[in-house]
Amino acid sequence: MLNKKTVEDICVKGKRVLVRCDFNVPLADGAITDDKRIRESLKTISYLKNQGAKVILCSHLGRPKGEFNPKYSLAPVAVRLGELLGCTVTMAADVVGEDAQAKAAALKDGELLLLENVRYHAQEEKNDPDFAKALASLAEIYVNDAFGTSHRAHASTAGVADYLPAVCGYLIQKEIDIMGKALSDPKRPFVAILGGAKVSDKIGVITNLLEKVDTLVIGGGMAYTFLRAMGYPIGTSICEEDKVDLAKQLMATAKEKGVKFLIPQDNRIGDRYAPDCNFQTINSDNIPDGWMGLDIGPKTEALFADAIRGAGTVVWNGPMGVSEWENFASGTIAVAKAVAESGAVSIIGGGDSAAAVEKLGFADKMTHISTGGGASLEFLEGIELPGIAALNDKN
Ligand code: ADP
Ligand code: MG
Repeated sequence: MLNKKTVEDICVKGKRVLVRCDFNVPLADGAITDDKRIRESLKTISYLKNQGAKVILCSHLGRPKGEFNPKYSLAPVAVRLGELLGCTVTMAADVVGEDAQAKAAALKDGELLLLENVRYHAQEEKNDPDFAKALASLAEIYVNDAFGTSHRAHASTAGVADYLPAVCGYLIQKEIDIMGKALSDPKRPFVAILGGAKVSDKIGVITNLLEKVDTLVIGGGMAYTFLRAMGYPIGTSICEEDKVDLAKQLMATAKEKGVKFLIPQDNRIGDRYAPDCNFQTINSDNIPDGWMGLDIGPKTEALFADAIRGAGTVVWNGPMGVSEWENFASGTIAVAKAVAESGAVSIIGGGDSAAAVEKLGFADKMTHISTGGGASLEFLEGIELPGIAALNDKN
């Protein structure tokens, strides 16, 4: 369990509270196309508002590279947040400048202010102490609820905690409690499903989960490095040659530990990397030259679904194929369906996996879809997240 103080462990009434949120929402022509991240922040913000705090919100948005740039303004977020909460959210014209200072000082109990994009300042990502101090000087209490950025030691996610009492919000608490329990005390059998593009992105996760799971399922682009390690021809499938030995080692470790290790038995292969390529289904020992594996095949779907069916806990990271393309989404759909029907505690980490599960309509069937792609990966690797480490411990 999370051993950090939360918003409920301190008195916030009448206090100026700086809240780091993850408002890094997708925008098209200045309009928010998905407000999930804003909605995920509402619980903490409403709580603080109802308790009579003077709430000062901050976040990054996109990559403005340390310069003021209206393209990355958080102004649309202030509007959307105001709509969702049914109240005014005042927008500051800067981050720690005169306007932010004046508006922060003028806040009354229960009022909300949103600062401009913290990444308008290059010192943010450098975790510069002077910038962290300037942010801290706007408030009396710091709350981190930006789970999606908590794997970064930036001024607004970590540095600022050096200067203020620092606690976490409900979103971070939920993320860590659910994923932490899965890692430390999982309901068994514990099945991890890993996919996505690259073995190298997921080595840390595979290594850490091998210590904990009963079954490890590998699909997606990274499966082809494992098939190569088994000595199979893989055509033009993506493969990390320098990770083939590692793949062999990981399979040997699984065997030693008695972890069931499942890789694709058959594949949907295409004659080029394109959504409208010619495709066919073929066994894993038989991929022809010039063809590439773009999804798991039907036998593998059944094999994986079978392993998932009896699970107590499922952690899933990475799609089973190029699920953005209709012809190669079948494996990801089959796994999503099996997870949804399993009755297991189901946790989806990883940006593309979360997006696939949402797009395919399985989101409400999962126990938890992490809001932090990179952050959830690092958490599953067993790495301490700096934005959480910086917070005050519970006494
Ligand atoms: P996540 O964001 O969930 O951690 P990744 O970023 O690791 O997942 O992987 C997602 C990407 O992997 C997608 O863009 C998908 O197209 C790609 N991918 C999955 N399977 C394959 C494959 N067989 N060949 C090439 N790319 C693949
Ligand atoms: Mg990704």
